[in-house]
Amino acid sequence: MRTSAALLTLENLSVRYGEVRAVEAVDLTVGVGEVVSILGANGAGKSSLLRAISGEAGHVDGRVSLRDVDLLKGPRYGVARRGVAHVMEGRRVIPTLSVIDNLLLAANASRRVSRGSVPGALEEMYAYFPRLRERQSQAAGLLSGGEQQMLAIGRALMAKPDLLLLDEPSMGLAPIMIEEIYDILRARDGILGECSVLLAEQSAAVALSVSDRAYVLSRGSVVFEGQASELDAGRVAAAYLQG
Ligand code: ATP
Repeated sequence: MRTSAALLTLENLSVRYGEVRAVEAVDLTVGVGEVVSILGANGAGKSSLLRAISGEAGHVDGRVSLRDVDLLKGPRYGVARRGVAHVMEGRRVIPTLSVIDNLLLAANASRRVSRGSVPGALEEMYAYFPRLRERQSQAAGLLSGGEQQMLAIGRALMAKPDLLLLDEPSMGLAPIMIEEIYDILRARDGILGECSVLLAEQSAAVALSVSDRAYVLSRGSVVFEGQASELDAGRVAAAYLQG
């Protein structure tokens, strides 16, 4: 369910790495239960913007509010405790641990999940990702790229976040696997529940197909924003080149 209440608000957000200005004065909101895309070419600043929210970026200026809490104040680990999960580019799973241990570790590390609810959460995850159940005893590093992406998303959701930051989930995957991954975002009443999603993607068409709204970044700045239903992928790709 989507509401107009803002869960995440970015105000005048900038990210620098030394002399490199990766993100410049971005304003952005994500509502409760909304899926919002950040679209842009290579190097546009999408990953830096997500990393600024989870406290992983370089020098960050501006304001990042989750409800009315300023995430830039306080320790980095506080961001996860407040309900933000970040699936970084490149499917970060723990390769030497089994699939089930990757999932259990994520749930057990979360203060938002009571110990008693972990078996139920695992069962729910397997119901949505039967492939993960089939592979539960295998080392995560032996899974295919698509399965690792599923596991990375599954791990993030085991922590019961309010906001999922998803960085280029389609990267390096075959089209059929991209569809399977994006079905997670399409099933709004499914595993995501009320969780909001901020999705960074280069592939505008697939991202727009699951999004409520989108922002287009070019050289770190927002050059275009709107309702996903009103944007077409060709126009968005043209906007990549502005800035
Ligand atoms: P990609 O799809 O290639 O990941 P992106 O849109 O996510 O691109 P960023 O990775 O955020 O873009 O990069 C934005 C700019 O910041 C680029 O110019 C990049 O070279 C630079 N940059 C990113 N990370 C660092 C870093 N750790 N140190 C220095 N510069 C960086």
